[in-house]
Amino acid sequence: MAKRLLSLLLFIAIAASGYSQNSSSKADIDKLKTDNELLQAKVQTLEAKLDLLKMEIENLKNQVAAIKSQPSGSGQTTVSQPSSGSSGNQQVYKSQTPSAPSSGSGGQCTAITKAGKRCSRAARSNGLCWQHGG
Ligand SMILES: [Zn+2]
Repeated sequence: MAKRLLSLLLFIAIAASGYSQNSSSKADIDKLKTDNELLQAKVQTLEAKLDLLKMEIENLKNQVAAIKSQPSGSGQTTVSQPSSGSSGNQQVYKSQTPSAPSSGSGGQCTAITKAGKRCSRAARSNGLCWQHGG
């Protein structure tokens, strides 16, 4: 009989302590829930941003692919050099600077080689050497 009472008291104590624990942790759980909701909202915005960044990366990849696929070694890449035949150009002509555009015969080829440098061959009538279509 006494044992039963003891076990009953023990049960009540456990239940009470458990209840008090529950009530005290309920606030924590509520706080965690709100935190979780806030974090979920943040994750959603971050995911949206991530999608945007993925799209931007795809766009950049396409641009890079387009640039790479452009013919670079065909030899027909003529530089858009300003061939202004106005005054002042003659002075440059006399000093023989390599940057002087030669819009005519006898100058340097205006094409760019595969190495990315200015072609060093002598140009023909259209400003290009024999190899670059002059
Ligand atoms: Zn050339």
